[in-house]
Amino acid sequence: MPLEPTRRNALHGFAAMAVVIGFDPLNRLWVTDDGRQEGGARRAASDTLEALPPLDGTLLVDEASLAAAADDYGHIVHRTPSAVLRPGSVADIVAMVRYCNARGLKVAPRGQGHTTYGQAQTEGGLVVETSPLDRIGQVSGNTVTVGAGALWSSVAKATLAHGLTPPVFTDYIELSVGGTLSVGGLGGQTHRHGSQLDTVTELKVVTGAGELITCSPTRRADLFRAVLGGLGQCAIIVGATLRLVTAPETVRHYQLPYSDLETFLADQRRLVTEGRFSYVEGQVSAAEDGSFTTYVLEAVAYGPPAGPAPDDTQLLAGLRHDPAGAQIADMGYYAFLDRLAAGVAALKEAGLWDWAHPWLNVMLPGDSAAPLAASLLQDLGPDDVGPGGVVLLYPLLRERLRQPMLRTPDDPVPYLMSVLRACPPGDTATVDRLLAANRTAYETVRDSGGLQYPVGSIPFTAADWRDHFGPAWPQLAAARKCYDPRGVLTPGQGVF
Ligand SMILES: Cc1cc2nc3c(=O)[nH]c(=O)nc-3n(C[C@H](O)[C@H](O)[C@H](O)COP(=O)(O)OP(=O)(O)OC[C@H]3O[C@@H](n4cnc5c(N)ncnc54)[C@H](O)[C@@H]3O)c2cc1C
Repeated sequence: MPLEPTRRNALHGFAAMAVVIGFDPLNRLWVTDDGRQEGGARRAASDTLEALPPLDGTLLVDEASLAAAADDYGHIVHRTPSAVLRPGSVADIVAMVRYCNARGLKVAPRGQGHTTYGQAQTEGGLVVETSPLDRIGQVSGNTVTVGAGALWSSVAKATLAHGLTPPVFTDYIELSVGGTLSVGGLGGQTHRHGSQLDTVTELKVVTGAGELITCSPTRRADLFRAVLGGLGQCAIIVGATLRLVTAPETVRHYQLPYSDLETFLADQRRLVTEGRFSYVEGQVSAAEDGSFTTYVLEAVAYGPPAGPAPDDTQLLAGLRHDPAGAQIADMGYYAFLDRLAAGVAALKEAGLWDWAHPWLNVMLPGDSAAPLAASLLQDLGPDDVGPGGVVLLYPLLRERLRQPMLRTPDDPVPYLMSVLRACPPGDTATVDRLLAANRTAYETVRDSGGLQYPVGSIPFTAADWRDHFGPAWPQLAAARKCYDPRGVLTPGQGVF
């Protein structure tokens, strides 16, 4: 079904914009109707033109669109596509994936472009924007079906109108559903409900061969499992059905300071294994001397009707946080989900949102989390994290993480550690230094049985990916062969 309003061939409405009419297979260039050079498209002999399928949306080749698609939140990697599809319908994605497939052109789906190392980019291929697929369907029972381009913030608002909510959120909620379902989607509720992948009951996808398929745990389960957390290697998610739970009306938010790493990690572990709170995370920040030795355990108790009224004495019993400096605040549930909004606005205002973000995201095995975290933190100075940067460190429960493509260390309580670095985008020497530091840190973690959480900026080879997927590799490779036999999808991940 076309999206509203129908825009079949509405390109003619853009008077100043050249309209792509086809592809010249000899010169491997898009052909525009006006003969002007538009971005990567040049005029080519019309007798070699292979006409474009009719589209509800727009195929863009103007410089601004190509430049936007050659960037992401990392601002480190820039691969320029030859065209960008702003789909007017799922049928557009099917048609263009088939078209590209037949011509050996790579295709990169792009949600909000918030990965940090070119994962949603392609040099010379087609970027498919999913943001127009932002429809949120009716809440039905305890599920909702949404388009892949819907933002989690919009999904939350729509479901909260029914007293329901997705059970797991990332810290920042302006990410696309398709984007986080391709990588994992972890948050403070993960120890209770798994990752966002574990909350999906059905997917609609367009495979690399251009087939529109509905899959679920019981229908084309191989595809379902390969797509969730599968880094876009087998199919483009176009829609997802998400499980919902009763939403709390208010939450109580606890921030508990610690000055000892081992005590901090042990208390976090205790909380997630006991399940006392609905949400548990933690942060490490720089002390006055610049060392990363200040720890804050962040926990949230949901109020009615999703949980009992919070009882501070019970919830905090036995915790060994520093006596001074604990903060406890009550807030509305949506205000809690959207808690980063003010900080993000301030970063944007200060221009820091546009800085380079060579992020390090790793999972540490629980049994060696303390020495590993200590050694990684010891190597950090304020310049390695940067203004507005932060270090997250919190435990997950492996038994709740059930999707095979989301790799986790072989340990019941692995820890996610994210060094969310920021540095000036033009400072290539610092960017290169931090990328090298990420690789060194990754190798240290890997050699102790840890893994990367694949949203950051760690230089990675195809052999590293094989290692990363480990026992899940044969499933991913088989699904790739079956559903994307020409290997056109999502080259920016560098998996195949
Ligand atoms: C400020 C910030 C905070 C974050 N916080 C968290 C957090 O708390 N927890 C967490 O888990 N992650 C977090 N992330 C990481 C985030 O989950 C990933 O970067 C996610 O992929 C971003 O979604 P996106 O829509 O921007 O995806 P994109 O960056 O556009 O795409 C990510 C990858 O998925 C592919 N892809 C995109 N859409 C689709 C689709 N529909 N079908 C198939 N493949 C697709 C892309 O090609 C790319 O390879 C955060 C990122 C930022 C910038």
